[in-house]
Amino acid sequence: MVGEQLKTIYQRLFEYFGPQHWWPGRTQFEIIVGAILTQNTNWTNVEKAIANLRRRRLLEPLKLHEIEIEELAALIRPAGYYRLKARRLKNFLDWLFEKHTGQLDGLNDIPTDLLRRQLLGIKGIGRETADSILLYALDRVIFVVDTYTARVMLRHRLIDTDADYEQIQDLFQSNLDEDVRLFNEYHALLVRLGKQFCRPKPKCSECPLNLLPHTIEAEYP
Ligand code: SF4
Repeated sequence: MVGEQLKTIYQRLFEYFGPQHWWPGRTQFEIIVGAILTQNTNWTNVEKAIANLRRRRLLEPLKLHEIEIEELAALIRPAGYYRLKARRLKNFLDWLFEKHTGQLDGLNDIPTDLLRRQLLGIKGIGRETADSILLYALDRVIFVVDTYTARVMLRHRLIDTDADYEQIQDLFQSNLDEDVRLFNEYHALLVRLGKQFCRPKPKCSECPLNLLPHTIEAEYP
């Protein structure tokens, strides 16, 4: 039942919006950098910061590991909270070099649960960022949850207001096929839906999910 509802939502969103081509990034490492920089800012600002790094040919783990943090902060300034995000990038790189010799390939043999715990142990890497890295950069079967996801699921009565991150994640992971491409596209479509229609003040009359049972009063805390 829940699985069918989730599949119907996905199908309607995919038919309406089409493929979202996520995550926009040329390499695994660039996707990871983007996932860390996109916290609390919009993607246009992240693109400017990544363009600065690309121009300086710094989008490689070793080069970003070696650059001074002040210089890194200046380059990623367009992404906002740039000192904090420079520290977070450095924290990720310190972990990658101390635990995995600086090689993203070294992460391939680590089971997803363990790798997720390791990522969450890095200061400044939260659940959404860790799961974005796992799904979009490392092709792990894990569902990314964000405010848009929670809002749509709540308004369509698939979760309660007190559902936490892992419960929402489990809703998808327990009721859908374990498919990286499906999880990738589904999350991207929910973000698109949340930005265009399922905003704090929803535009249900124009929304592709309008014919499905929902309640507009609900807002995820
Ligand atoms: S805008 Fe309305 S119909 Fe669309 S997803 Fe949100 S609650 Fe559902």
